[in-house]
Amino acid sequence: MRILVTGGAGFLGSNLCTRLINDGHEVICLDNFFTGRKANIAHLLDNPRFELVRHDVTDPFKFEVDQIYNLACPASPPHYQYNPIKTTKTSVMGAINCLGLAKRVKARVFQASTSEVYGDPQVHPQPEEYWGNVNPIGKRSCYDEGKRCAETLFFDYHRENKVDIRVIRIFNTYGPHMLSNDGRVVSNFIVQALGGEDITIYGDGSQTRSFCYVDDLIEGFVRFMDQTEIVGPMNCGNPGEFTMLQLAEAVLREVGGKSKIVHKPLPADDPKQRKPDISLARRVLKWEPQIPLEEGLRRTIAYFRTQA
Ligand code: NAD
Ligand code: UDP
Repeated sequence: MRILVTGGAGFLGSNLCTRLINDGHEVICLDNFFTGRKANIAHLLDNPRFELVRHDVTDPFKFEVDQIYNLACPASPPHYQYNPIKTTKTSVMGAINCLGLAKRVKARVFQASTSEVYGDPQVHPQPEEYWGNVNPIGKRSCYDEGKRCAETLFFDYHRENKVDIRVIRIFNTYGPHMLSNDGRVVSNFIVQALGGEDITIYGDGSQTRSFCYVDDLIEGFVRFMDQTEIVGPMNCGNPGEFTMLQLAEAVLREVGGKSKIVHKPLPADDPKQRKPDISLARRVLKWEPQIPLEEGLRRTIAYFRTQA
């Protein structure tokens, strides 16, 4: 198949492009390089089945493709809050442009949605039926509401125009090709530990997240995209749940060194707990994560050692 990946030079996008090329597909990677970089896809540039296009998803685009994976959007809080209006535009106009293209060329279109649609959840773990607890006017809203509106657009194009959609809700994922200045917790802790710097825990470190290794997530993407039983929304992530204090200790155990844990203020609207209910993915895709946190951290630490 010929497959378009928007945001293909980013963390998840570049791992997905590699997987799709290895599976024998033709891949068009579209990216504006806001948080993506050429180094992430350098190993694909000489492949005749791979094409790189510098373009912004907020401007319309046309390609003859069979599938579209829409991943374009900064995902780390410091990056998506840097230009919040642009973040909302990227989610909303990017979705409209992908859906318009999918409608025209009859492509199946995948939306990288997020556990942030559940906000600071009052239901735990989070099943797909939960509508969430999202602040519409806070610092995280540009991302959360942008992604919620994108889901709305996907389901309206599906109902009104019969567009063949797949909507996945991704929970915190980590691994090679994250930027060292990405700002998300796993890369921050690893980069700090490798540099012998203090490990910065925001708040008291009792908030929880569930961390999925990237290879497990990408396997879930491809299985979801290539089945016809459900369109989503479907949660995808690792149900193992850890406090930020436990994560810091796990990173320190793997890296060693002399870093100390320090506490910094908790950002506004920081969700207190998060853990996916993955029953749907288990049942339909026969999918569940295979790589435990320690193993995933080991692989990610090995990657960051090569980036020094
Ligand atoms: P990332 O920041 O590494 O990648 C995003 C990519 O999109 C980058 O290459 C960036 O340059 C590109 N991009 C941003 N704005 C663009 C625009 N206007 N036009 C074209 N390209 C643009 O983030 P990631 O972790 O790889 O996330 C990929 C997708 O998955 C995002 O949509 C994100 O919301 C979603 N997601 C990721 C996670 C996670 O834990 N990694 C969790 C939930 C959802
Ligand atoms: N966090 C932290 N130290 C850091 C970066 C993040 O303690 O250096 C915390 C953050 O406050 C949040 C959790 O780690 O509670 C996950 O943050 P991240 O930005 O990775 O993802 P998100 O909040 O979007 O799930």
